[in-house]
Amino acid sequence: MVKNINFTGLTPEELEQFLKSIGQPKYRAGQIFSWIHGRVVQSFSQMTDLPADFRQQLENDCSLEVPNILSIHDSGNTGSRKFLMELSDGAKVEAVFLPEQKRRTVCISSQVGCPLACKFCATGMMGLVRNLTAAEIVAQLYAIKREVGGRITNVVFMGMGEPFLNYNAVIKAAQLIHHKSGLNIGARKITISTSGIASRIRQMADEKHPFRLAFSLNATTDQIRGHIMPINLKHDLTACLDSLEYYSSRTRQRVTVEYILLPGVNDSKEDAERLIKIIRRLRAKLNVIPFNPVPDTPYRQPNQNELKQFVSKVEPAVRRVTVRWSQGSDISAACGQLYAENVKRKRRPTDKTQQPA
Ligand code: SAH
Ligand code: SF4
Repeated sequence: MVKNINFTGLTPEELEQFLKSIGQPKYRAGQIFSWIHGRVVQSFSQMTDLPADFRQQLENDCSLEVPNILSIHDSGNTGSRKFLMELSDGAKVEAVFLPEQKRRTVCISSQVGCPLACKFCATGMMGLVRNLTAAEIVAQLYAIKREVGGRITNVVFMGMGEPFLNYNAVIKAAQLIHHKSGLNIGARKITISTSGIASRIRQMADEKHPFRLAFSLNATTDQIRGHIMPINLKHDLTACLDSLEYYSSRTRQRVTVEYILLPGVNDSKEDAERLIKIIRRLRAKLNVIPFNPVPDTPYRQPNQNELKQFVSKVEPAVRRVTVRWSQGSDISAACGQLYAENVKRKRRPTDKTQQPA
């Protein structure tokens, strides 16, 4: 048997192929898949409908992706919990559990770090360490599900990294999460957020993946966007908006436009007017995200009044606007921040870190 094949990243078809190669019947693939992705077990020994000797063989020769939870940060007021996890090579990623009244959302990472260096983003300051595998992406969700229990209703790829710079692994992970023998999360409840890799937006449209697409617009001119998001120099606003229009026309799906509010940078009357035009052109939903403070950036969080003023300018003109405070900003819920703090904490520990039981 091939030593140490990791089962967590395999589709049912890939599992079948592998099992065939070691002389096991096909139907075992379905059993194993639902143990891993439906019941999110951590070891082969828990797969009680497999023969004991086969379980032992798998235990010896194969592996499952089980990240080690290093710390859990609770937000007292919102119920959000942020997890710092260590992967098998020691790389660290963050994922967040965000419970609301009807939704229980998990936000997961697609890369360790991010190469795109957006000026407001803690992950952007780290640079790219590496891409995650599909197994490592879904394993973040499974680790959280084991910890919090109950049903997870929504998944967003809004943690560390740019999902479209790790396209194949991200799409595969979304398919595993969506699979009916897995967690069976609805395709429209799985959102992939991109900073705007135009070629991948077109690819996702051509491949007709059913997942939701969100675009981090964040500024309405190439000048401002290029300044806060260097990726705009490669994929400018025209390229991004054209590709999004193409996406909507091919898939008949509305995209969500995310707009991080940075007072004095992108919240003028003119910004609001340009934003309205873009939202109308894309027939998109708008999600305004007040900046969650990141140390060593020149930006500050908008106050309630600034936020209200900006939203009141766009609200009458667009179909649907939501405001999302980065939930649990008291636990630094914006992406990458926990990682950055953890690195600092290694030098000067604080009592905020809570070890899991
Ligand atoms: N790389 C992808 C997905 C991860 S970032 C992207 O950029 O879309 C997910 C979202 O968090 C993006 O909309 C980004 O603009 C936002 N974000 C990053 N840093 C933030 C901060 N400090 N405060 C609020 N939102 C932030
Ligand atoms: Fe990367 Fe998204 Fe952060 Fe920009 S906002 S640095 S693309 S993770």
